[in-house]
Amino acid sequence: MLPDDARCPCGSGDPYGGCCGRFHRGEPAPTPEALMRSRYTAFVVGDVAHLLATWDPAHRPAELVLDPGTQWLRLVVVRAEGGPFDDRGTVEFEAHHRTGGRRGVQHEVSGFARRDGAWVYVTGAPG
Ligand SMILES: [Zn+2]
Repeated sequence: MLPDDARCPCGSGDPYGGCCGRFHRGEPAPTPEALMRSRYTAFVVGDVAHLLATWDPAHRPAELVLDPGTQWLRLVVVRAEGGPFDDRGTVEFEAHHRTGGRRGVQHEVSGFARRDGAWVYVTGAPG
């Protein structure tokens, strides 16, 4: 876990506790971008429970094991659509990482939907 006053790994510039940390504690994210950021940060801090809880049950894997050899370095949100009054949204992002000593970028367009008032991650496609 990360201290609440640490800089949030999602790159917002805000402290973790007031940024992705509150969504990791169960507060619903207001927008697809906020949820996507909290999911990226969950990869950084190893919060598998948050990843599974915010995954559309129809697409969620039965179990999720994070690769300990991947270090997430930086998130860039390229484009985000969907707000408090929508029930679908998309977020295009680049997640920079280092895996096995080599740097890489995961470029993805993620789809989100609102289920029972809460945003969930549905699927992703290469960006
Ligand atoms: Zn954050």
